[in-house]
Amino acid sequence: MAGLVLRTGREKSLLRRHPWIFSGSITNIIGSPKSGETVEILTDNGQFLAKAAYSPNSQIIGRVWTWDEGEMVDPEFFFKRIKEAIKIRRQLIDTSQIAALRLVHGESDGLPGLILDRYNDLCVVQLLTTGTEFWREVIVDIIKNLTNATSIYERSDSDVRQLEGLKHQTGILFGTLPEQPVIITEYGMKYYVDVVNGHKTGFYLDQRENRRLIKNYKFGYKVLDCFSYTGGFAINALAGGASSVVLVDTSDLALNLARKNIEMNGFDLNSTQFYMQDVFQQLRRLRDRGEVFDLVILDPPKFAPTSAQAERAARGYKDINMLALKLLRPGGYLVTFSCSGGISEDLFQKIVAGAALDAGVDALILDRLHQGIDHPVALNFPEGAYLKGFIIQKRN
Ligand code: SAH
Repeated sequence: MAGLVLRTGREKSLLRRHPWIFSGSITNIIGSPKSGETVEILTDNGQFLAKAAYSPNSQIIGRVWTWDEGEMVDPEFFFKRIKEAIKIRRQLIDTSQIAALRLVHGESDGLPGLILDRYNDLCVVQLLTTGTEFWREVIVDIIKNLTNATSIYERSDSDVRQLEGLKHQTGILFGTLPEQPVIITEYGMKYYVDVVNGHKTGFYLDQRENRRLIKNYKFGYKVLDCFSYTGGFAINALAGGASSVVLVDTSDLALNLARKNIEMNGFDLNSTQFYMQDVFQQLRRLRDRGEVFDLVILDPPKFAPTSAQAERAARGYKDINMLALKLLRPGGYLVTFSCSGGISEDLFQKIVAGAALDAGVDALILDRLHQGIDHPVALNFPEGAYLKGFIIQKRN
């Protein structure tokens, strides 16, 4: 088998079972592996560490499939891993309440680069790395067998593909694509999901439990939902008794679906306002007009995909959180998120604390929020804990 040999002393993170091998840590390549082929990862004195997918163009030159020298990386391997991932969800998630969920979550399910989301009978797959590309047919066949999906659609159009030297790829892989958007149900609420044109695989499945909290906590009457996408939080605020909701997003596709979602759930569009605007600017306009809200939600896109962008991202987070706190009445609530892999929960808390200081308000954290249970975090892969949020109350 072809192999990658690590420089002396560069095996530490692999010994802690972190599944990424960086190109700078390699001293020698044994054989001439093809892109995506399975290679052995060896210390400089030949000790076996792992089997990984080879990615010649990426800074992450290898992603670990297995730590076990005796385990073959073959169709049976993918069958076992995908089956296990689906089994965990079946045990934990009540699918009578939830028609859409993540079945496979990449590294955390031992399958780097593989994302599999289910929307009713439609499965949407992302093959984000050379390794998953190499095993494409095998993986798609297994999904067919294990899910009984009537259609499988590919959304491999994430930036990660480019870093891996792969072109974007989208299209139907099995069955026929149901008419878009499809309708899913989640805790009694209905949502239109466009798996072809929507973000990620169509919906922010990771926010499911937090959408429900917005409904259950009954935060208040006048709500501002920033970065609203298709209105997931706005609809739950209305279901929780809000009398008016303002939605802000730059995407007209998202806002159009938000409008349809609000109507489909039986809420009056007269109690909503839509701004196709940049949140940074819209928050300032609302402040200048002297608007006041009971609840502000901030769920921006990732400002810092990796820690390299953390500093610039921190300024962005601080700015919107400071403005949001100013727009709240005393006693009002801020539900604020970061989905940046490069910003830890600890750092995010510091940023929000800085925002409160700049806004001149006292505030407290009532709760800490995270991605749902179908987006688990392997302990050896802390980067998997990307979504963090706080429920904050402004005191004065
Ligand atoms: N809360 C949503 C997900 C939000 S995703 C849910 O639970 O479904 C982030 C959204 O921010 C996207 O819809 C994107 O179009 C929007 N966006 C990105 N940058 C923006 C900006 N500067 N101003 C307004 N919206 C922005």
